[in-house]
Amino acid sequence: MIFLDIDGVMISAAGWKPVENLEDGFSAFSKRAIDCLQYLVNQTNASIVLTTSHKSTYPLYQWDQIFKTRNLNVTICDKLDDNLKSLNRKDEILNYLNAHPEIENYVIIDDDKSLNDLPHSMKQKLVLTSSLIGLTQENIERAIEILNHPTLVES
Ligand SMILES: [Mg+2]
Repeated sequence: MIFLDIDGVMISAAGWKPVENLEDGFSAFSKRAIDCLQYLVNQTNASIVLTTSHKSTYPLYQWDQIFKTRNLNVTICDKLDDNLKSLNRKDEILNYLNAHPEIENYVIIDDDKSLNDLPHSMKQKLVLTSSLIGLTQENIERAIEILNHPTLVES
């Protein structure tokens, strides 16, 4: 399972560089992030839970289409609950994991620094991206390590 953020991961957030929208009205993803995510999914067969603050904007089937339109062949199986209580990302993900104890093997890919406060065992499964750069090959190698060797992770 991959807990996937979009801003700062699939889209890099350099303020000077406007992000173009595709025809569906949602932002284009960075080419490198697309290649990296596809490689991760191909190597691990993991499916995706969306964590992005945009999650409530579209139902799951439309997210599926948004990823397909961006040439990603991935399975989006769920998204976090609508964030009605304005929780930080750390608490949103903790709530989801508490509600889904069956999820043991996962990685969290996100640029949200609140995740640095995750409990130790979960923080070992965090790959924190740089907001200005987005997803990199180095992030992906770490993510593959976490997913393939869930019990051997060192921080
Ligand atoms: Mg983000």
